[in-house]
Amino acid sequence: MSVMTVPPGEGLAFHLAEGRRVRLTTPKGRQSADFFAFRDGDMTDWLSPLHTWMPTRSLHPRVGDTLLSRLREPMLEMIEDGADGVHDLLIAPCDPIRYAQFGVPEHRSCVGNLVEAMARLNLEVPIPPPAVNFFTTTTVTDGFIFATPAAPVAKAGAHVVLEARMDLVCAVSSCPYDLTGPGWNINDPGGPTEILIELA
Ligand SMILES: [Zn+2]
Repeated sequence: MSVMTVPPGEGLAFHLAEGRRVRLTTPKGRQSADFFAFRDGDMTDWLSPLHTWMPTRSLHPRVGDTLLSRLREPMLEMIEDGADGVHDLLIAPCDPIRYAQFGVPEHRSCVGNLVEAMARLNLEVPIPPPAVNFFTTTTVTDGFIFATPAAPVAKAGAHVVLEARMDLVCAVSSCPYDLTGPGWNINDPGGPTEILIELA
C-alpha cells in the first residue's frame, strides 16, 4: 500500500496498472477531487464522463459502474462508495480561462493541476479532457442542474475505491475553486483541503 497526499488546491499524477486499485479520500470532507485518467502510453484516449453515463444511465457513478474512455473502452470499475453517491459527471473542470473570466487569471485550476502533475511524469496533455468529479455535490431535476443544498455535503472521510481495467496514468486535483459569488460553492468555504491517494 502506498499513500500519497495531494496538497490543498494542487494535483498529483500516478500510474495504475490493470487490476490495481486506488482509494481516494477527502479527510476533512467537502473537497472536490477532479479525477482524470488516460490509457498508459496514449494520452489521446482518456476517461470520458459523457461516454460513461450513457450505458450506466446515471449522472452519479455508483458501485459496479464501469467508467469508459472516449473510445468506449472500460478504464475503471467503481468498487466502493464511501461518499453516499456525492459525485458528479457533468461539470467541466475549472481551468485558467474560467478564472480569467472571474478576473483572477493567476488562480490555480484543476486543468492547470492536471498539466503540471503529468509534466512531473514527463507526460504532455494534448487536450485537457473532462473530469469525473468525486465528492462534488450536484443534483439534476427536470433537466436543470443544481448544487444542492447550497453548500457541498461530502462528509469528512468520504472515499471511493476504483479498480483499473487497463494500464492507466491518472491524475487527481484537489479542486482549488474558492471563489464566492460567481459560481457554486464547490468546496468548503474555508478553502481547499488535501485529498489522500492510496494505491493497492
Ligand atoms: Zn476545479
